[in-house]
Amino acid sequence: MERYARVLVDVAGQELEQGFDYRIPADYPCAVSPGMSVTVPFGKRKLAGLVLEIMQKTDVPPDRIRDMGPPRYDGEAVSEEMIRLALWMAHRYHCSVQEAVRCVLPPGTRADKAKPQTYTKPVLNVSKEAAGLFIDTCPPSRKRQILLMELLLSDAGIGQIRAKLPEWQAVAHALEKKGLVRTETAVAQRIPYEQIPVEPDTEPELMPEQEQAIGRIRDAMASGSGTFYLFGVTGSGKTEVYLQCAKYAMQTGRSTIILVPEISLTPQMVKRFRARFGESVCVFHSALTLAERRDQWQRVKNGTVKVAVGARSAIFAPFDDLGLIVVDEEHETSYLSEHAPRYDAVEVAQERCRMHGATLVMGSATPSLGRYAKALDGTITLLKLNGRVRGLPMPEVSIVDMREELKAGNRSMFSGQLKEAIQNALFNGQQTVLFLNRRGYHTFVSCRDCGEAVKCPHCDVSMTYHRTQNRLVCHYCGFEMYPPRKCPSCGSSRIRYFGAGTQRIEDELQTLFPGVKTLRMDRDTTRTKDSHEQILSAFGRGEAQILLGTQMVAKGLDFPNITVVGVLAADTALHAPDYTGAERTFQLIAQVAGRAGRGNTPGRVVVQTYSPEEAAICLAAQHDYPAFYEDEMKRRQEGQFPPFTRFIRFLFTDTDGERAKAQCERFAEFLKTKIRAEKVFHGRLLQFRCTESPLARIDNRYRYQIVLKMIEDEATDDMTEDLMRWDDEFHTGQARPVMEINPHHMV
Ligand code: ADP
Ligand code: ZN
Ligand code: ZN
Repeated sequence: MERYARVLVDVAGQELEQGFDYRIPADYPCAVSPGMSVTVPFGKRKLAGLVLEIMQKTDVPPDRIRDMGPPRYDGEAVSEEMIRLALWMAHRYHCSVQEAVRCVLPPGTRADKAKPQTYTKPVLNVSKEAAGLFIDTCPPSRKRQILLMELLLSDAGIGQIRAKLPEWQAVAHALEKKGLVRTETAVAQRIPYEQIPVEPDTEPELMPEQEQAIGRIRDAMASGSGTFYLFGVTGSGKTEVYLQCAKYAMQTGRSTIILVPEISLTPQMVKRFRARFGESVCVFHSALTLAERRDQWQRVKNGTVKVAVGARSAIFAPFDDLGLIVVDEEHETSYLSEHAPRYDAVEVAQERCRMHGATLVMGSATPSLGRYAKALDGTITLLKLNGRVRGLPMPEVSIVDMREELKAGNRSMFSGQLKEAIQNALFNGQQTVLFLNRRGYHTFVSCRDCGEAVKCPHCDVSMTYHRTQNRLVCHYCGFEMYPPRKCPSCGSSRIRYFGAGTQRIEDELQTLFPGVKTLRMDRDTTRTKDSHEQILSAFGRGEAQILLGTQMVAKGLDFPNITVVGVLAADTALHAPDYTGAERTFQLIAQVAGRAGRGNTPGRVVVQTYSPEEAAICLAAQHDYPAFYEDEMKRRQEGQFPPFTRFIRFLFTDTDGERAKAQCERFAEFLKTKIRAEKVFHGRLLQFRCTESPLARIDNRYRYQIVLKMIEDEATDDMTEDLMRWDDEFHTGQARPVMEINPHHMV
């Protein structure tokens, strides 16, 4: 019986969407399985390829099918499971197989350039006794031979050998002839920068609820299934649950992936995992060099490490024996990839768990509405931790109405209450964290006469003033320019600066509290590789009294000395043109507030707002997620928003605005015809809009979009697949628009 292989061919510079079929010769030298690296004839060339699938038949006619070439041994094998995962992704996220496969390949394989660094080292070819005998009986004049043997006997590393005996190769050669020594090729292991020593820690005695949760999860792990939602306020001991479940996985010989939302969060989490598991932990980190990432991949693949901690892409850690996946802070949008393939790491986690018979545990104090709904209806098992560990109280949150402050003549960014709280903390030697969702100095610059804001010439968005560089910066494309002295629209010289960003707050802090050390953490101060870690550890060591930052500071920080947290402007997200505004606001306040009072002193949180009556703000202040959930779900249902409906957006971008518009409109017409003919859409399609995108131009590309809104029910997945198919059909051989499902912003 003939067998065929579908192979993804690596043609440089060409985007091949799918695989090509080849016949597997009957006398092929080895078993063929998906994930194998092979050589294939392609036109007149021989190219590298990756086996995707083994098939009993093919659509290629017998006279046209070609034989698959020999296997390639220099490429690392990708497991069959990971190939199946990639194929699943290509289907689910409507991307090319090539794009999906790239996620599961070892880092840097595409160009095949980054071969691991190797070196030669001498090793003993005889027993230690024999080596000792040689040293004792060798004429003392053979000093260098004795030295090398002594070094090898003491297990010296190659660095030490090179240092003590630079000409070791000649010496080893002489000893090799006597059969005492041989040389081996070893792969250079680079030590990633996280491998700093950490103090081992001991397991605390578990709280009853932690114990229960761990019991349930372990039972599921033992039976190779289970999806859990661990819901508990910040500081309720969720991480301890993850740690113990990972330990159980390890004891049963299986591996664990821990997903955390962002780089800035990773160091602390990593430290806790390393304190418990030592060298069995590795870190997937986008700031690692390619070589470091390859090492990680290798160590995961060969089983040296058992726990991988990392942001989104760590979901592709190539474990073969996965037993547990943890998704911490499940609600975070950073789990959604913003470029192709536009995957949701939580869904990918679910799929990997299904394939491996592993258990999935998501956790958060502020679950996403959609997943919490599934936890309530039982699709996901809900586990609760009802309070902080050791009975620590939740911090007291006060809401300050900034309109009242303004009436009372306070024009600063700091309310009287917040100033006083910071003052107290300073007096008691405690630390403060301040949060503002805007970097830069002034948020925008505009003209007093015509009211026009200064906009980026490449994007349709306002520029932000950064004072340290005295530049206006576009936060979408990075374009910088000097602040204009005259209004670009009307020529008036009455230019004014409005709003406040982190840089300006930093200045204001210096005026309010002269001499107090502050640290600022935003995208401008964290451009280099270790900067997050450096800022956080400096703050942890008490080198500054105040940490000021954007949403980066809202997460993960766990320092006992933080007693005051200030949210300078809680409304920023609330008024975003986006149905998730309230959800984001609630999450933000709850997360930031959770940073206070983790030690023995109770914390104090001050939330400044212009809309103190908003449910998202007052319920976050009361730490009442279930009440917020009820309220917000009602609003979503009334407004027909997800999770009751599903948005699908097709985004067309082009340097030529007319062309983008025409492409978008042509596809819209096509879709309409198709939809009319397909019954399942009747009554389920609530909206079909073909318009200019609210952000009409970014980075010189004009943006037009089609947005569909459909009822979310058992037929929605089918309708989504119909749309994907029609997209393929209409755009064969040309660039497809970007397709997104429930994008977290639609601008
Ligand atoms: P979460 O992940 O829910 O924010 P953590 O697991 O980080 O909570 O726990 C908060 C703090 O309490 C941490 O410092 C942790 O070491 C500690 N902790 C966790 N569980 C216990 C326990 N059972 N007994 C004492 N301390 C604990
Ligand atoms: Zn003007
Ligand atoms: Zn721009």
